[in-house]
Amino acid sequence: MPTSINPATGDVIEEFAEHTDQDIDRALANADSAFRDWRNTAYSRRAEVLLRAADELERRKDELARIATREMGKRLKESVAEVEKCATACRYYAEEGEKLLADDHRAGPATKNFVAYLPIGPVLAVMPWNFPYWQCFRFAAPAIMAGNVGILKHASNVSQCALEIEKIFLDADAPEGVFQTLLISSGKVERILKDERVRAATLTGSEGAGSAVAATAGSQIKTTVLELGGSDPFIVMPSADIGKAVDVGVTARMQNSGQSCIAAKRFIVHEDVYDDYLGRYQDKVEAIKLGDPMADDTGMGPLAMKAGVDDIADQIARSTKAGAKLVTGGSAPEGPGYFFQPSILADVPEAAPAYREELFGPCAIFFKVRTIDDAIALANDSEFGLGGSVWTNEAKEQERFVRDLDQGGTHINRMTASDSRLPFGGVKKSGYGRELSHEGIHAFMNAKTVTVD
Ligand code: NDP
Repeated sequence: MPTSINPATGDVIEEFAEHTDQDIDRALANADSAFRDWRNTAYSRRAEVLLRAADELERRKDELARIATREMGKRLKESVAEVEKCATACRYYAEEGEKLLADDHRAGPATKNFVAYLPIGPVLAVMPWNFPYWQCFRFAAPAIMAGNVGILKHASNVSQCALEIEKIFLDADAPEGVFQTLLISSGKVERILKDERVRAATLTGSEGAGSAVAATAGSQIKTTVLELGGSDPFIVMPSADIGKAVDVGVTARMQNSGQSCIAAKRFIVHEDVYDDYLGRYQDKVEAIKLGDPMADDTGMGPLAMKAGVDDIADQIARSTKAGAKLVTGGSAPEGPGYFFQPSILADVPEAAPAYREELFGPCAIFFKVRTIDDAIALANDSEFGLGGSVWTNEAKEQERFVRDLDQGGTHINRMTASDSRLPFGGVKKSGYGRELSHEGIHAFMNAKTVTVD
């Protein structure tokens, strides 16, 4: 049964009856019939829905933010910023979508040759709890603008957010069936994906979930976009502005209580600045105030789930046993709620779990390197390749990092963050396909070749 629990207290907020098989069938039929109409609507009509959705998000941002904070524990300020970001995605696609999908005229054998971009149909979105609005809107806004329709299976701990997203689109005058939420367990995903009315799937979450969904979709010859885990490097070279790299590095690791796929997870610091950087980083981490995520002066709220606390505690314990040094933090404070101290591990040996595993919580791990080659080799020694942040003011070093780091995005002298105007996604086990920008809106389109004589 999908259950929402307030992670700041451990109290149950609400339990939801799962949608039944009949409900699922009705939703699929709605999606199918909505698509037949929606694919023929003018871009101006689709843009109208997205602009209204943006207005709704902005009008209700405090209320929506409170719902997210109560269900998954991120600080209220962060929830408000997330809702605002969803509005920007809706506005971006409302304004740019038609241009991004315009017929693409090419040289060819006929008098007129072009590629027409046509929507493919209902898309299933399997989404996680860590950015409970943003992960969904970054799929939904381009999908709706493109003439596709969406069915959301959200994580089971954020059902209130899931229902609010459906309501926002209905309130924005999207026809019934254009965006629907199903409250279902992950066990029902396979049946939905195998239904011929569903044409594609997008999943953000763990490697296990991604591989299960991609396997089913593959068996049905359906396309997928996967946005999975990451263990992003944050590389600091001697020419960097160290003060700024410390401030941004702490935010990049600790925001959202460390539960972000693109969080800076591995700090790879040149030996010339290592002690200075780590010392300043530790001071800032130790000053973070844990507490009520609704309060203005809180620096970090709880993790979203008890399992998240248990996992990070276990990874740290196994890593110190394997020889890593615990610089600060490392345990859960006494009392209710799923809190965990902001932590740092240093001198992490290759045998330690923290070297290879993703740490989906507030723990930074530090490595000292002697050269740029060592930094690149260490950064690439990971099964993940989502994003990364590099701090250097040397042009030659910047070029090398751009060319040699195996990752979907390299960000120089700034933290990794998604933006509607730029594509977002990973390589290796961080997934495939791209969301956002031009690439994101083309993810679920039929690029139809047209020749005319
Ligand atoms: P999951 O991957 O388990 O959950 C993400 C979504 O996938 C949820 O909607 C979940 O549903 C669904 N799901 C899970 N298993 C399956 C399956 N076999 N078939 C279909 N759908 C499935 O993430 P967790 O919440 O368990 O987090 C664990 C790890 O996932 C983290 O440590 C992190 O590595 C990664 N993660 C990455 C995120 C990212 O932003 N890239 C976000 C969140 C997690 P349900 O909730 O009902 O199980």
